[in-house]
Amino acid sequence: MANPRGFLEFNRAKIAKIAPLERIKNYKEFTLAFDEKEQIEQASRCMNCGVPFCQAGLVEDKKDIGCPLHNLIPEFNDAVCKGNYALAYERLSLTNPFPEFTSRVCPAPCEDSCVCAINSQSVTIKANEYAIIENAFKMKLVKASKPQHYNGLKIAIVGSGPSALAAAYKLNLLGYKVSVFERSDRLGGLLMYGIPDMKLEKSVVERRIELLRQSGIEFKTKQDINSKEKADTLIKDYDAVILATGASKPNDLNIKGRELEGIMFAVDFLTLNTKSLLDNGKAASLAKGKDVLIIGSGDTSVDCVAVATRQGAKSITRFERSPKRPLTRTKDNPWPLKADIFTTDYGLEEAIAVYKKDPREYQKATQEFIGKNGKVTAVLASDLKRVQKEGKFINQIVPNSQKSYKADLVLLAMGFSGCENELAKNFKLELDEKNNILSTNYQSTRKKVFVCGDARMGQSLVVNAIEDGKCCAKAISEFLSKA
Ligand code: SF4
Repeated sequence: MANPRGFLEFNRAKIAKIAPLERIKNYKEFTLAFDEKEQIEQASRCMNCGVPFCQAGLVEDKKDIGCPLHNLIPEFNDAVCKGNYALAYERLSLTNPFPEFTSRVCPAPCEDSCVCAINSQSVTIKANEYAIIENAFKMKLVKASKPQHYNGLKIAIVGSGPSALAAAYKLNLLGYKVSVFERSDRLGGLLMYGIPDMKLEKSVVERRIELLRQSGIEFKTKQDINSKEKADTLIKDYDAVILATGASKPNDLNIKGRELEGIMFAVDFLTLNTKSLLDNGKAASLAKGKDVLIIGSGDTSVDCVAVATRQGAKSITRFERSPKRPLTRTKDNPWPLKADIFTTDYGLEEAIAVYKKDPREYQKATQEFIGKNGKVTAVLASDLKRVQKEGKFINQIVPNSQKSYKADLVLLAMGFSGCENELAKNFKLELDEKNNILSTNYQSTRKKVFVCGDARMGQSLVVNAIEDGKCCAKAISEFLSKA
């Protein structure tokens, strides 16, 4: 190890970010890299402990333990500490085909499982990964990976999000001719339209897709495969088909007033904004001057807060059904599980700086949308309390707690519930009880048709989608080698 005492000499450094009031003036990424000296010090904090939980990639009690991609974290940390970015990149790219995505958007379960985090602060693994991949690009180490030869077999992939790209990358390397069919006008799926530029600039997505194209993968946009005829043709023309179409059915809130104008899904709000930025160089202005109410508490809701702040919303409120999280781990959430604690993510930080008020309203049950002239003007919501019933915690409405909240733009950010039913019907596939495409070892219920990513697992993290795409490629290769 380059510096086995680093964790005793240096504290975890905070990665510099452009201040909230400054960064909301545009849609650019705002996280800055460590300088060279600080980066080496931070990498030296890795202890190379005997059992590196950070790279375990396990799931317990629905919570991640360590990196789902099994990144070789102590190895790349040591290489960074020695200033050897070429070696660090070589180790990182063994497991992670797209570190430029994960080092920007991954919630870093690796850091929660870091041994240093037991009684101190974790190693800055995500920032180290960012330094490795961006240095590798600068050093021109990231190249198109072409196979030695093609084996004559053809694979079609429907969708171009992170799991589709990971499967395409792996299968191409294994010698399969891969064609990717995307319904939208741009490639990248959720990476392109679901995550705003502040977290992942679109030039970063395009840079990777260009490399994949140069490596021999064919990409086609504006391809809607969602019909029986097109599904059958694809299955006939290719040796295997992968559906990597995501979990694109947003959860709705079917309560009184849902039909009013001004109520929309969060994903549509984010897509409109990114599309406008890409098409016209100008953001959309749906939230401008409006009282915006966001229902939901995940990453997408934070992205909506950030975009609505930038668009110039008059006020922003975010409803959560859960209580405020604890500041530290509880006994039910011990190390090395992903920490379930109170944090203030970037969009919330920005809203607090602009509106001088935390937009979060906890334990709220939305009950009715109120409108005037067909447009939403307010939302009625009651308080919730947690009660224990038959050994389980459930939410109960607090009587007489209903209040009206002003809102002329309501964004529904309550997650997704599986794949589009029409697609499964057209491909003649069975669904599981959660509305995901039913599969065994990535094979759907129809021969030659495989499935990966959110369409298989349900809504998940980008890092899980990449791992799923890699595993699906392996399953296809095994299937075709036996065929
Ligand atoms: S991909 Fe995510 S979990 Fe894995 S090392 Fe990078 S930041 Fe950590």
